[in-house]
Amino acid sequence: MKTMEDVKDIQKQNVRDYVQQVYHRVEKRNEYEPEFLQAVKEVFDSLLPVLVKNPTYINKGILERIVEPERFVFFRVPWLDDKGNVRVNRGFRVQFNSALGPYKGGLRFHPSVNTSIIKFLGFEQIFKNALTGQPIGGGKGGSDFDPKGKSDDEIMRFCQSFMIELSKHIGPDIDVPAGDIGVGAREIGYMFGQYKRMRGAFEAGVLTGKGLDYGGSLGRTEATGYGTVYFVEEMLKDKGYEFEGSTVVVSGSGNVSIYAMEKAMEFGAKVVACSDSSGYIYDQNGINLDTIKQLKEVENKRIYEYKNEHPDAVFVEGCSGIWSIPCDIALPCATQNELDRESAELLISNGVKAVGEGANMPSTQDAIDLFIDNDVLFAPAKAANAGGVSVSALEMAQNSTRIMWTREDVDSKLHEIMKNIYQDSIQAAEEYGDPGNLVKGANIAGFIKVADAMVSQGVV
Ligand code: NAP
Repeated sequence: MKTMEDVKDIQKQNVRDYVQQVYHRVEKRNEYEPEFLQAVKEVFDSLLPVLVKNPTYINKGILERIVEPERFVFFRVPWLDDKGNVRVNRGFRVQFNSALGPYKGGLRFHPSVNTSIIKFLGFEQIFKNALTGQPIGGGKGGSDFDPKGKSDDEIMRFCQSFMIELSKHIGPDIDVPAGDIGVGAREIGYMFGQYKRMRGAFEAGVLTGKGLDYGGSLGRTEATGYGTVYFVEEMLKDKGYEFEGSTVVVSGSGNVSIYAMEKAMEFGAKVVACSDSSGYIYDQNGINLDTIKQLKEVENKRIYEYKNEHPDAVFVEGCSGIWSIPCDIALPCATQNELDRESAELLISNGVKAVGEGANMPSTQDAIDLFIDNDVLFAPAKAANAGGVSVSALEMAQNSTRIMWTREDVDSKLHEIMKNIYQDSIQAAEEYGDPGNLVKGANIAGFIKVADAMVSQGVV
């Protein structure tokens, strides 16, 4: 005779088999897309208890549908360099899921960009955007164009050519791109100018991350970095820790990294290291952020030049070594898979207390497992770096009402959103049987919002 427990175990096993079957199909269909598969697996690994409790999600084919982009646009981007040579890059836009609102997600310009990278970023974006509580769906895009070493005119011509094709697929109520690696205010400006010229209309809400003089939001530049620190602060507080008096290591020295460092310092932490793709700087006196901003935001220089101003600092070639520096809090803010198992082992043996992901998927799966197994507090990207897209949604709201909010208004809304994301994630983790596990909590809380909307909207 079967007990209730036996029945529950069989149910669980059936759901586990189902999830595995769906995942195998995803693997077969996307076998050359490792980053996309990594992102799907991480989400699927969290969903077993959700699917056991809500079989409707299985009956309505939510998993099968959520892994297929609603649309994927792939296009040629021809442009002329300063010598008059024809150059050709690839352009991408994935419109992954619009259950909660217009597609929303950044554009990345980097030579490593390909279908797998764009799809992993777009897939993550679905759940991140859901966590923000704002009415935005998930998308992502970019190009294998490398802005490094290009003149301003070349960047402008590339952005204009990119937008000629992209403009056919976006709009304030359709799809609203923003920046990401290699795309900042300058690139957004050139793309916005081209879009406006083609449409013959000033549709401010078509792009976010715009300059303040033509529809941008105060606080957008700082939002992802500040948001990451706000989220990590909530996580630390729950365990009786804080940034005040902590030693922090932050990878990268781009948009996310600079403002994560700024907020961590404002909260009383000492940031001792940061990096770029050539190597890292260790400054035992504490990184001087004015120097980093001057080098990276104004002069576009390499990080080793920091030593010219601060001769006591050490420059080390290669990026991964940054995780060998002892710290209380590590904030990977550069790029995907920059923190592997070996780096996690080093951080743990040096006594790290917390890791907060500012970049998208910066930690490999085995690094995450190691952190969780060793009770290191771990803030996953889709929750911890949702501040950027949150303020992008606030920028869209300001554009539609044509009213600009103050910096204080935007920052306090951002702070509130990050606290809510933390609470939603921690509650979902508790409710679904893995208290304190923010990876599972964020995946579950984001998934449920999207899945419920998909169920309501029928099989589309
Ligand atoms: P960014 O301004 O272009 O800065 C990227 C930084 O990472 C640069 O310092 C870059 O160095 C470094 N980097 C790039 N590839 C690297 C590699 N392979 N190894 C080590 N360092 C590397 O870009 P960002 O906007 O800060 O974005 C950083 C991360 O945050 C990305 O994962 C992005 O998807 C994520 N994110 C960004 C936002 C946002 O609002 N910007 C929002 C959410 C998530 P070099 O200059 O030498 O290339």
